[in-house]
Amino acid sequence: LPQHLRVDNGGNVKVVVRVRAFLPREIKRDAECLVSMDPITQETTLHVPDDSDPANARARSRKVIEEKSFTFDNSFWSHDTRDKHYAHQEEVYNCLGEEFLDHNFEGYHTCIFAYGQTGSGKSYTMMGTPDQPGLIPRTCEDLFQRIEQAQEETPNISYHVRASYFEVYNEHVRDLLVPVVPNQPPYYLKIRESPTDGPYVKDLTDVPVRNINEILRYMKTGDNNRTVASTKMNDTSSRSHAVFTIMLKQIHHDMETDETTERSSRIRLVDLAGSERAKSTEATGARLREGSNINKSLTTLGRVIAALADPKASRPGKRSRDVVPYRDSILTWLLKDSLGGNSKTAMIACISPSDYEETLSTLRYADQAK
Ligand code: ADP
Repeated sequence: LPQHLRVDNGGNVKVVVRVRAFLPREIKRDAECLVSMDPITQETTLHVPDDSDPANARARSRKVIEEKSFTFDNSFWSHDTRDKHYAHQEEVYNCLGEEFLDHNFEGYHTCIFAYGQTGSGKSYTMMGTPDQPGLIPRTCEDLFQRIEQAQEETPNISYHVRASYFEVYNEHVRDLLVPVVPNQPPYYLKIRESPTDGPYVKDLTDVPVRNINEILRYMKTGDNNRTVASTKMNDTSSRSHAVFTIMLKQIHHDMETDETTERSSRIRLVDLAGSERAKSTEATGARLREGSNINKSLTTLGRVIAALADPKASRPGKRSRDVVPYRDSILTWLLKDSLGGNSKTAMIACISPSDYEETLSTLRYADQAK
């Protein structure tokens, strides 16, 4: 049996959790692993920290804390590589990315979010490293492999791929495919609403891509631009939401009638801002405003996904836009077409193995999205 199986929960929202390995700083302070996962039931348990780890002193002193368990569609144990249940990048892709790409070829829009505190493994999961590519490069590779194969098997369908990459920072949108101009403030794009296609980012770079190398080059360009801007502006990348979008258009040409039909699907892969609550020391002035804006996007996203996962929201006679608060944040408004309706959504809750409070808050957030 494969260690991780694709789970079909029958709904449009899927929620999974992934715990990362200890970082050098955690090994140094001899941190305790507070998370366990049951490989059979997929249950994730957060244990009460013992008295030795100072990092959890606040949690211990603040309130009564207890052991908590949660069950999600998948739990990825990426804590210890020596463990036979260790979930590699490939397994995360096979359980989630592959299924979502199937949906795209069927014509659905999809959206995969990585949620969690800074340092919990969001970028590792979405982008990965050159040796251990994450969901985004794996999706791109699989996409072009499938297209190549389909072109041989069904020459009457042509495939067209476009890509864009933007970030939402402090409720503003920045094009990540446009280089950062030195000594100039960042240039923000405007959001418009089209009567037919809904909200969109005006003048966003949107490039045609023909092969895997081209798309990976754009992905890297965008990532570099994000890092450059972030370094200039006090490490904003942990406080911005990065949205990588792939547009797949399939044009079917009927040889007999000479008619063509089009099927378009949008693939959104989102590395969310760090979910950590603003600590009182730095939460002043601009930082505070920024913090509350980030939380606004994250809180609204949580509410939107919870509403979509709730069958009541799609009850006949109750139009989903009446109950789903898309408009309450820029992120959810822009992703409206990829959330709900003709689309599939997944949330990957990334957690640290050693931080009781933040991990509990991430697990609770993920739990309400189920
Ligand atoms: P975030 O994007 O949430 O801020 P990162 O993805 O940058 O966090 O992860 C923080 C650190 O942990 C990085 O050095 C990353 O390489 C490492 N890391 C995260 N998840 C894993 C994992 N599953 N296996 C190995 N290393 C990981």
